Amino acid sequence: MATDRVQVKRQFGHRAWLALNPAQIRLIDAQAHAARTSWNLLHDWWMMLPKDKRSLAAADAAIRQARQDLDWLAVLPAQAAQAVLKTYVQAWRNCWEGRAEAPAFKSRIRSVMSVDIPQGRDLNIVRVHRRWRMVNIPKVGRVRFRWTKDLPVGKRADKENRVTGARLVKDALGWHIAFRIQTLQAVPESHQGTEVGIDAGVNLPLALSDGNHFDHGRPARLPDGTADRDKWLTDHEKATLLRLEQRAAHRKSFRQPGERSSNRLRHTYDQIKQLRATATRRAVDWQHKTTTRIAEQYGTVVVEQLTITNMVKSARGTLHKPGSNVAQKAGLNRSISQEAWGRTVRMLTYKLAQRGGTLVKVPAPGTSLRCSACGLTMPGSRQNQATFVCKNPDCGFQANADWNAARNILHLYRIGHVAVPAAGRAVVRRARRVKPATVR
Ligand SMILES: [Zn+2]
Repeated sequence: MATDRVQVKRQFGHRAWLALNPAQIRLIDAQAHAARTSWNLLHDWWMMLPKDKRSLAAADAAIRQARQDLDWLAVLPAQAAQAVLKTYVQAWRNCWEGRAEAPAFKSRIRSVMSVDIPQGRDLNIVRVHRRWRMVNIPKVGRVRFRWTKDLPVGKRADKENRVTGARLVKDALGWHIAFRIQTLQAVPESHQGTEVGIDAGVNLPLALSDGNHFDHGRPARLPDGTADRDKWLTDHEKATLLRLEQRAAHRKSFRQPGERSSNRLRHTYDQIKQLRATATRRAVDWQHKTTTRIAEQYGTVVVEQLTITNMVKSARGTLHKPGSNVAQKAGLNRSISQEAWGRTVRMLTYKLAQRGGTLVKVPAPGTSLRCSACGLTMPGSRQNQATFVCKNPDCGFQANADWNAARNILHLYRIGHVAVPAAGRAVVRRARRVKPATVR
């Protein structure tokens, strides 16, 4: 069946690590500091100006003047300085339209270092090896990066499929380049896969209602029952982390109140940050691989609508009514947040939409306590974190607790208890009379 499918524009990002030498790192660092300072000068100038004098043209002129007057601001390419202005104006627009707080000064230590390359044609990406490409960074030169995804560059680029720009971003592992890519793609046919419920488990990272589960083989808990927040690190790396933390605590003990951190202490902090960033990168890698497999296999994915911040908060309780077992619950909650459930759902949302599938969220209070075989919620049915044994004498259903919850989530979707059709094609279901959750 060869039908011409409707083409839609798709925009996405791709991030790659840049192989830089120390001199290049210093150059990009200087650009990032200049970009941040431009923002701060612009903000200062904007706030001092009477409201009727504030305009894009005046701001543009002010930035050009500042770049002429201050040598160290001129290390920032003109295009990147324009991008700072554009972002600043957009930040005010977001504020006026109620999407964000008013723009503020950017702190040297707390803000993320970044430089924009707004024009795709400046990048000039060239192949140098099967696995490496080179990109041009304004005022820095040619830089290698790893080629892990086929981007529309060179002969494969045209008006509709191209890299429209990029942004350099620094994290604990160094400078990265995030490409902005625009392509024209056919609207996918609706996914023929089955529907599945997924629970972000405590013991299984992702438990699926059909009995499958995706595991990264790294136990979420330590032998003493507390959550292992460094499960993505090897034993050797864990030992290194412990040693670094002890060293940081020791060095910190010599610091007087109000004194700056020593260079040695900051170096130790950087090493700790690097290990943590490595752990995060491994977790994201696993999430990407897993969510791609799920999106390929299933047409409709049902997830629980979690509010993670509320769960962490509620364990603590209030001043007048403190929560019980705070440490245990906080440990459990932390391992939930650590699995980065929100990121998994975001990945599933766009990956399913690309393949014609749908992600559905159901409000699911008590899915871990309800029996998925007989539908009763009996006190004490969930024996511990790992197993669920139904206390209904006629049922006696026994299963992994996370798997039981995943089956309950799918059940809620099948009876039409849908919260938000999150993305992809619209969820059109037959209207059924469903009792409110509180009654059922
Ligand atoms: Zn039962």
